[in-house]
Amino acid sequence: MESTDKYIIGADVGGTNIRVGRMRGFEIEELVKVPLSDVLSGDKQPEKLARFIADYCQGISVAAVAVGLPGTLDRDCRRVLKTPNIPGLSGSDLKSIMQAYLQVPIFLENDAVMLLSGDIHRLELDRRGVYLGCYIGTGLGSALYINGAVPKGANGISEMGHMPVFGKDELCSCGNRGCAENYVSGRYLQKLRSEKYPDIHISEIFTAFRGTEEYSEYIEILSVILAGTVNLLDPTAVIIGGGVASMKGFPKEELFERVCFHAMKPVPAKNLKILYSPEREDAGVFGAAVFARCMLETHRL
Ligand SMILES: [Zn+2]
Repeated sequence: MESTDKYIIGADVGGTNIRVGRMRGFEIEELVKVPLSDVLSGDKQPEKLARFIADYCQGISVAAVAVGLPGTLDRDCRRVLKTPNIPGLSGSDLKSIMQAYLQVPIFLENDAVMLLSGDIHRLELDRRGVYLGCYIGTGLGSALYINGAVPKGANGISEMGHMPVFGKDELCSCGNRGCAENYVSGRYLQKLRSEKYPDIHISEIFTAFRGTEEYSEYIEILSVILAGTVNLLDPTAVIIGGGVASMKGFPKEELFERVCFHAMKPVPAKNLKILYSPEREDAGVFGAAVFARCMLETHRL
């Protein structure tokens, strides 16, 4: 089949770096990492991103390009609604701009959707299942996958990290107050470290604050948003990933216990599966490329 002879290009646009790579079959054969500021600065950032990816594709036989973005897209995944950490992309018709540079199918999605797509493949999960992805990095991204599709609502929004937490009122990057992300993300852990544990390295934070009130609150807030979504969706499995989830001392057991505590009885509490994403440097690029391959070949994920 023609498309399997060509490369699928996956790109992962993060708050600090852009990673891009090429996949043949289901193997990433090359991964390039470039500081975001080297590619996106000044004006016309959507065009700069498109040109960067088009330059990478030079001399490669390409079947499709897929890009994971750290923000929200419209329900057709054409326009970028909001990328809080990369304001230069917000509001752009990125798909049309990329299409002008690349005459191949283009797939844009939220980066958490791309990660979940890759994890379903790497964890060898049944693609007919229902999955909730929760990716805790600098912020908290989430993704839903239901029977081979990413469900889209009226506006394409799906953000577990912006569930409000009762009694909390810290201003969030989204403009609201008290969103869960502000109490469970890497940004929160950095703040906690600088305020209370300035002498330790961030990689030691879970060991440092274990047993404190903040530690119990951390687990409680994360377990409440996870269990709330579990009760709503009854997923086949929850997949947790991201840099924070792979840190030393991340409270996997306590979290599982509290999610089960808040989940409905007897099910889904009784047979709840929480899996952890394999921590890999190419996860975002791989996920994007898997997303494109599945869409290209079967029109499903
Ligand atoms: Zn928010």
